[in-house]
Amino acid sequence: MFKLLPPLFQRLYSTASNLKIMEGFIGAIGNTPLIRLRKLSQETGSEIYGKAEFMNPGGSVKDRAALFVVKEAEEKGLIKPGGTVIEGTAGNTGIGLAHVCRAKGYKCVIYMPNTQSQEKIDLLRMLGAEVHPVPAVPFDNPDNYNHQARRHAEKLENAVWTNQFDNTANRRAHIETTGPEIWDQTNGLIDGFTCATGTGGTFAGVARFLKDKNPNIKVFIADPPGSVLYTYFKSGGKLMERTGSSITEGIGQGRVTDNLSGDVHLVDDALYIPDEKSIEMVYRLLDEEGLYLGASTALNVVAAVEMAKKLGPGKKIVTILCDGAYRYQSRLFSRKWLESKNLLDSIPNNLQKYIVL
Ligand code: PMP
Repeated sequence: MFKLLPPLFQRLYSTASNLKIMEGFIGAIGNTPLIRLRKLSQETGSEIYGKAEFMNPGGSVKDRAALFVVKEAEEKGLIKPGGTVIEGTAGNTGIGLAHVCRAKGYKCVIYMPNTQSQEKIDLLRMLGAEVHPVPAVPFDNPDNYNHQARRHAEKLENAVWTNQFDNTANRRAHIETTGPEIWDQTNGLIDGFTCATGTGGTFAGVARFLKDKNPNIKVFIADPPGSVLYTYFKSGGKLMERTGSSITEGIGQGRVTDNLSGDVHLVDDALYIPDEKSIEMVYRLLDEEGLYLGASTALNVVAAVEMAKKLGPGKKIVTILCDGAYRYQSRLFSRKWLESKNLLDSIPNNLQKYIVL
């Protein structure tokens, strides 16, 4: 019946349904707006849309996965009232979990690499989580933050390691919520989807849903320096050693996670986005759209622009606006930090006025 309404009424109708009263933190997860990026759309001659995941109640795309992994643990009887949720995370899943745990009455323990921003560590502690920043070592090292989280859960009664990287409840969150929302918001008129991957849940879940709806929709994986997925796809499936690193937190991967592995065949192309382009886009989004967003978001938007160029004009491209810049501002807006990463020159002179720290 909704689809029979003319587009204007469809829009009013869907706006009204988003303004319902939501049930607590958990009820407020999802149903985020799709934002048209005006300047970039004009420049490319395509429609560039960003799914405003930073507007989730915990501030990032990971609220959806956090809810799904906890719900699944409850359904499988892996956690009972008063139990503890334990996770290894670069931060945002932890923040989502800490909120979900508060809302549901669980304790929350987070292991994270000590390379992550202080803002995320502080926020996790403010949300009542027990935080263990640990040295950033590769996944195959037993001291990697994920293995430490797993071992902690194994030693504790009524505790679950939610294992976001290989627990496909994460990807399911995006098959059941993010993908359908994007489809509805574009009335199914979408030509391309691209985003970077951390666990791969967002990319694989949205890609799977959209391809099932229309196999002609193109999906491109976007990859930062220090990640292996770009070369993995370009080489037809060879896993190379990780080399280099990126300022983009929460994305980049050294392996094909279980969240990604089932949908690898869906990928149409891969894009490598250097930090110089991502940092410039952080500042452009602020200047052109008033959007104060993190570096993984900026990388996604650069990828959406490159995808638009590859597909040609007149297309509708969707990407993910993962989280706000608030979580990284002591870095992204600090002259000293930018200099230390050799990125100051990547910010055009007319945008350097935003470097205030
Ligand atoms: N951006 C940020 C800021 C993140 O924290 C994450 C998750 N680590 C992602 C993007 C990637 O999301 P996913 O885990 O679904 O691949």
